Amino acid sequence: MLFDTHTHLNDEAFSADRDEVMQRALDEGVSLLVNVGFNRQTIPQTLELAEKYDFVYAAVGWHPHDAKDMKEEDLAWIEELSAHKKVVAIGEMGLDYYWDNSPRDVQKEVFRQQIALAKKVKKPIIIHDRDAHRDVVDILKEEGASEVGGVMHCFGGSVEIAKECLDLNFYISFGGPLTFKNAKKPKEVAMQIPLDRILIETDSPYLTPHPYRGKRNESSYVKHVAQSLAELRGLSYEEVCRITMENGKRLFNI
Ligand SMILES: [Zn+2]
Ligand SMILES: [Zn+2]
Repeated sequence: MLFDTHTHLNDEAFSADRDEVMQRALDEGVSLLVNVGFNRQTIPQTLELAEKYDFVYAAVGWHPHDAKDMKEEDLAWIEELSAHKKVVAIGEMGLDYYWDNSPRDVQKEVFRQQIALAKKVKKPIIIHDRDAHRDVVDILKEEGASEVGGVMHCFGGSVEIAKECLDLNFYISFGGPLTFKNAKKPKEVAMQIPLDRILIETDSPYLTPHPYRGKRNESSYVKHVAQSLAELRGLSYEEVCRITMENGKRLFNI
Protein backbone atom coordinates (compact mmCIF):
# COMPACT_ATOMS: atom_id res chain seq x y z
CA MET A 1 0.00 0.00 0.00
CA LEU A 2 1.43 3.35 -1.10
CA PHE A 3 0.88 6.91 0.13
CA ASP A 4 1.48 9.65 -2.47
CA THR A 5 1.89 12.56 -0.05
CA HIS A 6 1.99 15.36 -2.66
CA THR A 7 0.11 15.44 -5.93
CA HIS A 8 -1.92 17.82 -8.12
CA LEU A 9 -4.47 15.56 -9.80
CA ASN A 10 -6.81 18.54 -10.14
CA ASP A 11 -4.43 19.88 -12.82
CA GLU A 12 -5.82 20.40 -16.31
CA ALA A 13 -3.31 17.81 -17.54
CA PHE A 14 -5.84 15.28 -16.18
CA SER A 15 -9.03 16.85 -17.58
CA ALA A 16 -9.53 14.15 -20.19
CA ASP A 17 -8.92 11.06 -18.04
CA ARG A 18 -8.96 11.98 -14.34
CA ASP A 19 -11.19 9.06 -13.30
CA GLU A 20 -8.88 6.61 -15.06
CA VAL A 21 -5.83 8.16 -13.40
CA MET A 22 -7.51 7.75 -10.00
CA GLN A 23 -8.44 4.14 -10.77
CA ARG A 24 -4.90 3.38 -11.97
CA ALA A 25 -3.51 4.76 -8.70
CA LEU A 26 -5.82 2.46 -6.71
CA ASP A 27 -4.96 -0.50 -8.96
CA GLU A 28 -1.23 0.08 -8.36
CA GLY A 29 -1.74 0.09 -4.59
CA VAL A 30 -1.94 3.82 -3.85
CA SER A 31 -4.43 3.75 -0.99
CA LEU A 32 -3.91 7.34 0.20
CA LEU A 33 -2.93 10.59 -1.41
CA VAL A 34 -2.77 14.26 -0.48
CA ASN A 35 -3.85 16.58 -3.28
CA VAL A 36 -2.39 20.05 -2.85
CA GLY A 37 -4.31 23.23 -3.70
CA PHE A 38 -2.27 26.41 -3.63
CA ASN A 39 -4.23 29.39 -5.01
CA ARG A 40 -7.74 30.69 -5.68
CA GLN A 41 -8.25 28.33 -8.61
CA THR A 42 -6.74 25.07 -7.35
CA ILE A 43 -8.05 25.06 -3.76
CA PRO A 44 -11.74 24.53 -4.71
CA GLN A 45 -10.69 21.89 -7.27
CA THR A 46 -8.70 20.09 -4.58
CA LEU A 47 -11.61 20.05 -2.13
CA GLU A 48 -13.88 18.75 -4.85
CA LEU A 49 -11.56 15.78 -5.40
CA ALA A 50 -11.28 15.10 -1.66
CA GLU A 51 -15.05 15.05 -1.40
CA LYS A 52 -15.46 12.78 -4.40
CA TYR A 53 -12.83 10.14 -3.60
CA ASP A 54 -12.49 8.41 -0.22
CA PHE A 55 -8.72 7.90 -0.54
CA VAL A 56 -8.00 11.55 -1.44
CA TYR A 57 -7.08 14.04 1.29
CA ALA A 58 -6.41 17.75 0.81
CA ALA A 59 -3.90 20.45 1.67
CA VAL A 60 -4.74 24.13 1.28
CA GLY A 61 -2.27 27.00 1.14
CA TRP A 62 -0.70 29.69 -1.01
CA HIS A 63 2.18 29.02 -3.39
CA PRO A 64 5.17 31.41 -3.42
CA HIS A 65 4.57 31.84 -7.17
CA ASP A 66 1.23 33.52 -6.38
CA ALA A 67 2.41 35.37 -3.26
CA LYS A 68 1.99 38.76 -4.94
CA ASP A 69 -1.75 38.06 -5.42
CA MET A 70 -2.60 36.93 -1.89
CA LYS A 71 -5.06 39.16 -0.09
CA GLU A 72 -6.13 39.19 3.54
CA GLU A 73 -9.42 37.52 2.65
CA ASP A 74 -7.53 34.66 1.01
CA LEU A 75 -5.76 33.91 4.27
CA ALA A 76 -9.09 34.02 6.11
CA TRP A 77 -10.53 31.68 3.47
CA ILE A 78 -7.69 29.17 3.98
CA GLU A 79 -8.26 29.34 7.73
CA GLU A 80 -11.94 28.61 7.26
CA LEU A 81 -11.22 25.67 4.93
CA SER A 82 -8.67 24.19 7.33
CA ALA A 83 -11.62 22.96 9.40
CA HIS A 84 -12.85 20.79 6.49
CA LYS A 85 -12.71 17.15 7.59
CA LYS A 86 -10.40 16.12 4.73
CA VAL A 87 -7.93 19.00 5.00
CA VAL A 88 -4.84 17.53 6.65
CA ALA A 89 -2.21 20.25 6.14
CA ILE A 90 -1.56 23.91 5.29
CA GLY A 91 0.48 24.43 2.12
CA GLU A 92 2.16 24.30 -0.10
CA MET A 93 3.90 27.45 1.03
CA GLY A 94 7.51 28.59 1.02
CA LEU A 95 10.02 30.30 -1.23
CA ASP A 96 10.90 29.84 -4.89
CA TYR A 97 14.07 31.66 -5.92
CA TYR A 98 14.37 29.69 -9.16
CA TRP A 99 11.34 31.22 -10.88
CA ASP A 100 11.05 34.33 -8.70
CA ASN A 101 7.45 34.81 -9.86
CA SER A 102 6.78 37.08 -6.88
CA PRO A 103 9.21 39.53 -5.27
CA ARG A 104 11.24 37.78 -2.56
CA ASP A 105 10.16 40.07 0.27
CA VAL A 106 6.50 39.39 -0.63
CA GLN A 107 7.18 35.61 -0.77
CA LYS A 108 8.72 35.78 2.71
CA GLU A 109 5.83 37.74 4.21
CA VAL A 110 3.18 35.41 2.76
CA PHE A 111 5.21 32.44 3.99
CA ARG A 112 5.42 33.85 7.53
CA GLN A 113 1.67 34.58 7.63
CA GLN A 114 0.87 30.99 6.67
CA ILE A 115 3.17 29.49 9.29
CA ALA A 116 1.31 31.57 11.88
CA LEU A 117 -1.98 30.31 10.46
CA ALA A 118 -0.87 26.66 10.60
CA LYS A 119 0.09 27.11 14.25
CA LYS A 120 -3.27 28.72 14.95
CA VAL A 121 -5.24 25.84 13.40
CA LYS A 122 -2.73 23.21 14.58
CA LYS A 123 -2.05 21.58 11.21
CA PRO A 124 1.28 20.45 9.74
CA ILE A 125 2.93 22.53 7.02
CA ILE A 126 3.86 21.53 3.46
CA ILE A 127 6.96 23.40 2.29
CA HIS A 128 7.87 24.28 -1.29
CA ASP A 129 11.55 25.26 -1.39
CA ARG A 130 13.32 25.89 -4.66
CA ASP A 131 16.86 27.26 -4.41
CA ALA A 132 15.97 28.99 -1.14
CA HIS A 133 17.08 26.45 1.48
CA ARG A 134 18.84 28.86 3.86
CA ASP A 135 16.01 31.41 3.96
CA VAL A 136 13.34 28.70 4.28
CA VAL A 137 15.04 27.13 7.29
CA ASP A 138 15.71 30.49 8.93
CA ILE A 139 12.05 31.52 8.59
CA LEU A 140 10.83 28.15 9.91
CA LYS A 141 13.05 28.72 12.95
CA GLU A 142 12.07 32.34 13.48
CA GLU A 143 8.36 31.60 13.22
CA GLY A 144 8.44 28.58 15.52
CA ALA A 145 7.21 26.14 12.87
CA SER A 146 8.49 23.18 14.89
CA GLU A 147 5.35 23.52 17.01
CA VAL A 148 3.31 21.91 14.22
CA GLY A 149 6.06 20.40 12.04
CA GLY A 150 5.45 19.35 8.48
CA VAL A 151 7.19 18.15 5.35
CA MET A 152 9.85 19.48 2.99
CA HIS A 153 8.22 18.41 -0.27
CA CYS A 154 10.43 17.16 -3.10
CA PHE A 155 13.49 18.03 -1.10
CA GLY A 156 16.47 19.31 -3.10
CA GLY A 157 18.80 20.48 -0.34
CA SER A 158 21.94 19.07 1.22
CA VAL A 159 22.32 16.57 4.07
CA GLU A 160 23.15 19.50 6.39
CA ILE A 161 19.96 21.37 5.53
CA ALA A 162 17.97 18.13 5.85
CA LYS A 163 19.31 17.68 9.39
CA GLU A 164 18.22 21.21 10.33
CA CYS A 165 14.76 20.39 9.00
CA LEU A 166 14.64 17.17 11.03
CA ASP A 167 15.55 19.18 14.13
CA LEU A 168 12.59 21.45 13.35
CA ASN A 169 10.22 18.48 13.50
CA PHE A 170 9.94 18.19 9.71
CA TYR A 171 9.80 15.12 7.47
CA ILE A 172 11.70 14.93 4.19
CA SER A 173 9.80 13.89 1.07
CA PHE A 174 11.30 12.50 -2.14
CA GLY A 175 9.77 12.42 -5.60
CA GLY A 176 10.73 11.52 -9.16
CA PRO A 177 14.29 12.93 -8.99
CA LEU A 178 15.23 10.12 -6.58
CA THR A 179 14.91 7.71 -9.52
CA PHE A 180 17.28 9.68 -11.80
CA LYS A 181 20.76 8.23 -12.29
CA ASN A 182 22.47 11.60 -11.90
CA ALA A 183 20.51 12.78 -8.83
CA LYS A 184 23.34 12.56 -6.33
CA LYS A 185 22.04 15.00 -3.75
CA PRO A 186 18.59 13.54 -3.01
CA LYS A 187 20.09 10.04 -2.99
CA GLU A 188 22.69 11.07 -0.46
CA VAL A 189 20.03 12.64 1.78
CA ALA A 190 17.75 9.59 1.42
CA MET A 191 20.58 7.33 2.58
CA GLN A 192 21.50 9.40 5.60
CA ILE A 193 18.29 10.46 7.33
CA PRO A 194 16.24 8.28 9.71
CA LEU A 195 13.69 6.02 8.02
CA ASP A 196 10.89 7.19 10.26
CA ARG A 197 11.12 10.71 8.78
CA ILE A 198 10.94 9.86 5.07
CA LEU A 199 7.90 10.36 2.83
CA ILE A 200 7.38 9.69 -0.87
CA GLU A 201 5.41 11.68 -3.45
CA THR A 202 4.92 12.26 -7.16
CA ASP A 203 4.17 16.02 -7.42
CA SER A 204 2.11 14.99 -10.49
CA PRO A 205 1.86 16.13 -13.22
CA TYR A 206 5.47 17.35 -12.79
CA LEU A 207 8.80 15.64 -11.95
CA THR A 208 8.02 12.34 -13.63
CA PRO A 209 10.18 9.44 -12.40
CA HIS A 210 12.34 7.18 -14.53
CA PRO A 211 11.38 5.32 -16.80
CA TYR A 212 8.59 7.77 -17.75
CA ARG A 213 10.76 10.89 -17.53
CA GLY A 214 9.52 13.58 -19.96
CA LYS A 215 5.93 12.28 -19.93
CA ARG A 216 3.05 13.38 -17.71
CA ASN A 217 3.44 12.20 -14.13
CA GLU A 218 0.60 10.55 -12.21
CA SER A 219 0.13 9.15 -8.71
CA SER A 220 0.46 5.48 -9.69
CA TYR A 221 4.13 6.21 -10.54
CA VAL A 222 4.94 6.76 -6.86
CA LYS A 223 5.84 3.05 -6.83
CA HIS A 224 9.01 3.92 -8.79
CA VAL A 225 10.07 6.31 -6.05
CA ALA A 226 9.40 3.58 -3.47
CA GLN A 227 11.50 1.13 -5.50
CA SER A 228 14.43 3.55 -5.68
CA LEU A 229 14.25 4.17 -1.96
CA ALA A 230 14.18 0.42 -1.29
CA GLU A 231 17.34 -0.07 -3.37
CA LEU A 232 19.13 2.84 -1.71
CA ARG A 233 18.33 1.67 1.82
CA GLY A 234 18.65 -2.08 1.19
CA LEU A 235 15.05 -2.73 2.15
CA SER A 236 12.28 -4.66 0.47
CA TYR A 237 9.71 -2.75 -1.57
CA GLU A 238 7.00 -3.87 0.87
CA GLU A 239 8.95 -2.55 3.81
CA VAL A 240 9.38 0.87 2.19
CA CYS A 241 5.65 0.97 1.43
CA ARG A 242 4.81 0.13 5.04
CA ILE A 243 7.27 2.62 6.57
CA THR A 244 6.35 5.57 4.33
CA MET A 245 2.64 4.83 4.82
CA GLU A 246 3.04 4.86 8.62
CA ASN A 247 5.10 8.07 8.45
CA GLY A 248 2.53 9.84 6.29
CA LYS A 249 -0.39 8.80 8.49
CA ARG A 250 1.48 9.96 11.58
CA LEU A 251 2.33 13.38 10.09
CA PHE A 252 -1.10 14.08 8.62
CA ASN A 253 -3.10 12.51 11.47
CA ILE A 254 -4.96 10.11 9.22
ZN1 LIG B 1 6.04 22.50 -4.87
ZN1 LIG C 1 3.24 20.82 -5.49
